[in-house]
Amino acid sequence: MRMDILTLFPEILRGFFESSIMARAVERGLVSYSLTDIRDYATDKHHKCDDELYGGGPGMLMLPGPLGAALEAAGTEGARVVYVSPGGRLFNQAYARDLAAEKKLIVICGRYEGIDQRVIDKYVTDEISIGDYVLSSGEAAALVIVDAVYRLLPGVITGESLEEESFEDGLLEYPQYTRPALYDNIRVPDVLVSGHHANIVKWRFRKRLEKTLLYRPDLLQGKGLEGELRSMIQELTVQGGD
Ligand code: SAH
Repeated sequence: MRMDILTLFPEILRGFFESSIMARAVERGLVSYSLTDIRDYATDKHHKCDDELYGGGPGMLMLPGPLGAALEAAGTEGARVVYVSPGGRLFNQAYARDLAAEKKLIVICGRYEGIDQRVIDKYVTDEISIGDYVLSSGEAAALVIVDAVYRLLPGVITGESLEEESFEDGLLEYPQYTRPALYDNIRVPDVLVSGHHANIVKWRFRKRLEKTLLYRPDLLQGKGLEGELRSMIQELTVQGGD
């Protein structure tokens, strides 16, 4: 996948692309990317990239000129062009999968009060919010989207570790433990060291249901599953203990 990130602060993003799993994905040719400094496309001598709002109001808006020129240079034809914005559609795992199927992803990071609506109307295919809160700038949101998307690309992460993750089947992940078996006088649950595979599977499923009901009952709603899951938990608890 090709990723082009348009930002006024490329240095905020560089470390991510040059580290760890992303660096390996780039090295192996699974991802190619560019970090474009929108300021490079400002034509006046001060490289001005923002101005006041028409109609008044506090704050500044990113100028359409430099941003539009940066988009033209990136080449928007056939690309998904994302503007990260608290006013966008809410991002989730299904949305990440949808974007991961594309060949080219362009992400615009906003600053100040955001970007001129005409740029959105002309170029943006997806205005995406990463959650119901307001960040000071789009770089962190762009990284959230880039990270959620690229790890789904074939070959970046082995299939097995993706399949059982939170959200992949509408449930959160089960609690996980590693060595030592006794940490600060707290033992790993017996079932996990029992070697009884079927019981481990059952225990993990039960924990996933419990956790989803506790933290994210909304994930179960509308599926007509909530009542059913509650009775399953009760049943499994009676059978399985702990
Ligand atoms: N005036 C805007 C907020 C601007 S915040 C409004 O009220 O909607 C500045 C920039 O941060 C935005 O342009 C956007 O790129 C980014 N940003 C802030 N919160 C975000 C969120 N929840 N999701 C995605 N991007 C966000």
